[in-house]
Order: sequence, then C-alpha cells, then structure tokens
Amino acid sequence: MTSVILTRRGFFAAGAIAGVGIAGASGSLTGLAEAAAEVADFVKGPPVKDHPVVALSPHVFYIEAPSGTPTPENQGMMANLTFVIGDTGVVVVDTGSSVQIAEMAIRRLKAMSGKSVVGVVNTHYHGDHWLGNDGFVQVYGADLPIWALAGTRREIAGATGTLWHDSMLKWTNGATLGTRIVPPNRDVDHGFELSLGDVTLRMHHYGPAHTPHDLCVEVVEDGVMCVGDVLMHRRIANMDDGSFKGTIETIDRLTAAANPKIWLPGHGRPGPEVATWQRELFAGIWETCLRAVDEGTPLEGALALVLNDPRVATRAAGTEGWDRTIGKYVSLAYLEAEQAKF
Ligand SMILES: [Zn+2]
Repeated sequence: MTSVILTRRGFFAAGAIAGVGIAGASGSLTGLAEAAAEVADFVKGPPVKDHPVVALSPHVFYIEAPSGTPTPENQGMMANLTFVIGDTGVVVVDTGSSVQIAEMAIRRLKAMSGKSVVGVVNTHYHGDHWLGNDGFVQVYGADLPIWALAGTRREIAGATGTLWHDSMLKWTNGATLGTRIVPPNRDVDHGFELSLGDVTLRMHHYGPAHTPHDLCVEVVEDGVMCVGDVLMHRRIANMDDGSFKGTIETIDRLTAAANPKIWLPGHGRPGPEVATWQRELFAGIWETCLRAVDEGTPLEGALALVLNDPRVATRAAGTEGWDRTIGKYVSLAYLEAEQAKF
C-alpha cells in the first residue's frame, strides 16, 4: 500500500512539473488546467477487489462487507451495498466509502444483471454509506436520482460531508483518493414510494435513531427492511449522533408498520432475528440507565448495573468490539437518560 501511494505521489510531482512546462510553452492558463486534470486522473487510489454478492430474496441482493473499521487493508470496504432489482431497473441502497468501491459494485452488478441503475438511496450521512455516490453518477449520469432525507442531504453537502471524505482518506492511507463528494439530489420523506414494476420500495423514518435523519427502505413484496445503521448485526452502532430511546421506538414502529421477514443491516449479516437481538440489548442499556438516573446512581454505578443486566450480559460475548465500546455507549445512554429526565 505504502509503495503504491509513494509511486502515485511520484507521478503527481512529475506530472505537475510537466503541466507547468506545457502551460509555459503555450502561455495559456487553459493548458495548465487541462494538464492538471490529466494529472488528477493519475491520482486515484487502487481498485477494490471483488466482494461476494449475496442473493437475499427474489429482488434483493447485497454485497457483503467485512465488518470492522476502515483500514488501508480493507480500503474502506466496511458497509454492505444493496441492489433492489425490479422489472424497470436497479435501485442501490447505500454506495460504500469510495468511488473505487462503487466501481467494484457496478462491475459485480453488470456481471449478474443487464439492468441499469435508475436511482440510489442514502440511508444516512455517515461516509461509509454515501461516498460511493460518485462512482454511480459517473456511469449512470449526473441526473441519476439520489434520494435521502433533507437533513442527510444538508449534512453531506456541508462540513460533515467534507469531514467524512477527508477522514476516510486518512483512515485508508489514501486508498479512497479520487473520490468526490456527490450529495443526494432528491429529498424524500417518510411514506415515499418507488416502483420498479414488480417490486415497491417504501421509505420509513420515525425520528432520531442512529442519527437524526435515518431512512429505512422496505422492499415491500419481499418482506425485507434495509435499515442502514439503525440496526447492526452483533455489534453496537456508532451512537455519537444517535438516540437509544429513538432507536428502540424506531424498531417498534418499523415492526408495527411492516413486520419484515428479514432485517438487512448496513453492517453484518441480515436475518429475521437482527431486530429482536438489538432491541433487547438496547433496552437493557437504556432502561437500566433511566432507572439509575431516577435513583440518583452515578455513572460508574450505572455501568455496573448495565453490565449485570441479563439482556446485556448475555450479549457481551457475541458482540464485536464489546470491551472497547460498551463503556462509551453506556455513558451516552446515561447522558441521554439525564436529558430525558430534566
Ligand atoms: Zn452510520
């Protein structure tokens, strides 16, 4: 990885000097801009290797990402990408962390289906779910609809989007180089429906959960719910912008509205049990923190109570990164419980 990056930097330096030479010879600023654009084409991270496509239901297929955090080795491939394939085309739910990941996904899609992508949905504003938008507009056009809640669009178009773009570059040691920020271009809200002829996508949003602006996509005929990061499979989501109370409410309202057969999370494996498993864990954390705040138990005491709650204790061994994250998440839940009380 390091040698590849150094080589590219070498190209960049050589190209930049050549570019100045060309501009100097022609005396033209246009010449310089053109040369710079050619150099920019060089400065792109390496391709991402093919990842498996899993057939989940008649219309739903997903590219499975290894779980974990972005590293130079995984090139930011850490969130699942989903294809909903209908008679009239393909909708992609979440596009991964880079233009390279999107290019891999398009390669995989073309190998399995002759249908074109007719739209993209971004479930929320965390960069591992939308930085790949760039790859899809490059192939399917700048007018390709990219649907999201207005709040998600604003965050991606603003400082949050830039922060995610730059952070991904840093975490992967430049593997995502060349990825441009392409924000959503169509606002949708709860209840919005899309038809692909033989299959319908219905959007759900019930207030803050994993972020203030989470969109869940129900694939109606297949009984599949794409939940973004509202649910995760055997790991606790990043709850820095989230709400434990809101996540539990969202799970309950999604269940009441759609009663899906399969929950498809952005990280980890889908299945019928994903919602129950996480709801119990979150209830164990949230309800215990509420009671601790009510009884005046300080944070350290609340942490001990949470860890002893059977709903939490039984899930510790099967949850990725538990020791590293549980203390932080109990602190967040405790803070939210304090805010709820006062
Ligand atoms: Zn997220």
